Amino acid sequence: MNNNKQLEEFLSLVKVENFEERYKEDISEGLYFGLPLQPIIEAEKRLISSQDRNIAYFSMEYGLATSFYNLFSSSHPISESNKSQDHEVCSNYTLADYFFTINTNSIVDLPIYSGGLGVLAGDTVKTMADYKLPAVCFGVLWNSGYFRQRLWFKYGQFPEAMPWDLKSYPGLIPLKNRVKISLKSEDIYLRLWKYYVYSYDKSYAVPLILLDSNLEENGEKNRHLTDQLYRSESGWIKIMQRLILGMGGVSALRELDYKIDLHHLNEGHAVFAYVEKARGLSPEQREELKKHFAYTCHTPVDAGHDRFSVQELYSILNPEDFELVDANGKDKGNLVNLTLLAMNVSGHINAVSKAHQKVMHLQFPKYMERIQFVTNGVHHHTWTSERFKAISEKFKPVFGDIKANPMALIKAQQLSTNPEFRQAVWKAHQENKSEFCNFLEKWKLDKDAFTVCWARRIAAYKRPSLILQDIERLVDVAKRCGPIQVIFAGKAHPKDNLGFTYINQILEKVDGMTGVYDYLKIILLENYDITLAKTLVSSVDVWLNNPLPPFEASGTSGMKAILNAVVQMSTVDGWVAEAQDMEIGKFFGYRSKEDELGHELNLRLKEDSDELYSGLEELVTLYYKTNNKGTVDLNSKWIDMMINCIACGSRFNTYRMLDQYKSQIWGIA
Ligand SMILES: *Cc1c(COP(=O)(O)O)cnc(C)c1O
Repeated sequence: MNNNKQLEEFLSLVKVENFEERYKEDISEGLYFGLPLQPIIEAEKRLISSQDRNIAYFSMEYGLATSFYNLFSSSHPISESNKSQDHEVCSNYTLADYFFTINTNSIVDLPIYSGGLGVLAGDTVKTMADYKLPAVCFGVLWNSGYFRQRLWFKYGQFPEAMPWDLKSYPGLIPLKNRVKISLKSEDIYLRLWKYYVYSYDKSYAVPLILLDSNLEENGEKNRHLTDQLYRSESGWIKIMQRLILGMGGVSALRELDYKIDLHHLNEGHAVFAYVEKARGLSPEQREELKKHFAYTCHTPVDAGHDRFSVQELYSILNPEDFELVDANGKDKGNLVNLTLLAMNVSGHINAVSKAHQKVMHLQFPKYMERIQFVTNGVHHHTWTSERFKAISEKFKPVFGDIKANPMALIKAQQLSTNPEFRQAVWKAHQENKSEFCNFLEKWKLDKDAFTVCWARRIAAYKRPSLILQDIERLVDVAKRCGPIQVIFAGKAHPKDNLGFTYINQILEKVDGMTGVYDYLKIILLENYDITLAKTLVSSVDVWLNNPLPPFEASGTSGMKAILNAVVQMSTVDGWVAEAQDMEIGKFFGYRSKEDELGHELNLRLKEDSDELYSGLEELVTLYYKTNNKGTVDLNSKWIDMMINCIACGSRFNTYRMLDQYKSQIWGIA
């Protein structure tokens, strides 16, 4: 088709606001910000026709990093506020911290996520695009993102606002369309934005619609509803943010005329989508509607389930909506529980790992029969480093096309006795690690020293400082078995005082450590994000994951690391419980009982850190037997573990995950 006709067709399908003034250079010549325009047209046409089983996916957050996936380009200069800033480093080599910062020199991740839930949603959308599913996703345009983390010795985490420039963020466009959600005493108006998530081969794209309350039609207070993700200073703001996602999403579906068969609620946050759809329907029709809703629960932590006071909901919702919510979501203590509500209005419910399913069965025995599980995964195109992608290309006769079929990673097992393959795996890993050491050059990291990383959202049950529980013991292991480098990164929710305490504890311990830098280096990196995660999961020797079982629903960062042959050191919880027999590292710590809901107040720091140190001692010893100052024993068991990790990636990826959603939950072939 000629480029002009194509553009005309695109503009008839997508009503871009300010096209002439702002976007006509970036959407022209058959391109959309540098990527092909045709896949967008196809995806849009499918969504407005009702031939397929179209899916709408709702999530409060999406983790998408334009810096290394969906590389959009723009003919307009990118605002400084959309570029990554200098990161401080806090280490026990204080001298370097004082003089230097680091910078990833990238465009900031689309700032609409906080952690694992968002990254999972982002990886899911990318996989939907790879699978060419007729899907559309809904989220919120957080005008000032989540927050930017600063770390200071003596103070801890300092959250900074994160203003970003929506208008110059490549790939993001405003639409002329507006929608309205009607509440008891007021209406909220929303602007729609669009962002397209492409398949890895750029042959398809899934639209992501982002809802934005920053409009003049709204009063001052309501204009700020979509400022910041997970604001929690009042019940009101939490409810309003959830109404915007669910009701706003369904209103947007209507406004854009998308024909949807299935609504997928990624967490209970989105449950008001059902409430909006159920308006005006008879009881029978409402029953029927439930078959078109699926709900994924993501946390066994009780506080992670939203509960709101009945009175507050009564004051916000119109009577019909309130009645539905009250009848289906009532919990103890005159509260409405969004998890119960979501389970009561969804025809399909799932947990995100086998272990999590067990916990959900205990938490919600009435729903036992209906709660299935689909273990989470990660998007291999996103998380496999270039060097490891090159290995599967080089050994293509054995692997086949890993791009289209990551399940074939299991074939790494067949290659485990092939010296050339063992050499290639070690070499790729060392090159990734060297690059990381160069990145932190000023801190004198050694590519031949044992390096372990703990990086994720800071939450009590994840026990961030477990490895620092007994510093003397850690120093002792390093002295006896060989030098250790520990890398930390992670943000605590600004209102999470306990999380905040952990960061302080870590900083205090690091600050108090003197004279050990030659054999124990501890580095904290500020402002953990997807771009930093991508580097860490492919550069360190060991990925440390030590949540208190059974609180980790799944966890995904270890899955990113195994794709890069990074050995695991973990407690047995979430996805790890399903990978225990694959010899991918060292498992330790408390194991929850069959009938246990968990006791978060007893974090078992002493007991589990004891086991951590003895496990670490084994790993460090084996590591230095394998890598003796750069002389490598390619027959080492360490390299077997690295190869087992790659093979294990055959299971813990989003292709396997989406296959299961398709067959078990969505009922599509
Ligand atoms: C993968 C990822 C997470 C999730 O890590 P878990 O170990 O699963 O908790 C959080 N934040 C970022 C930036 C990530 O990339």
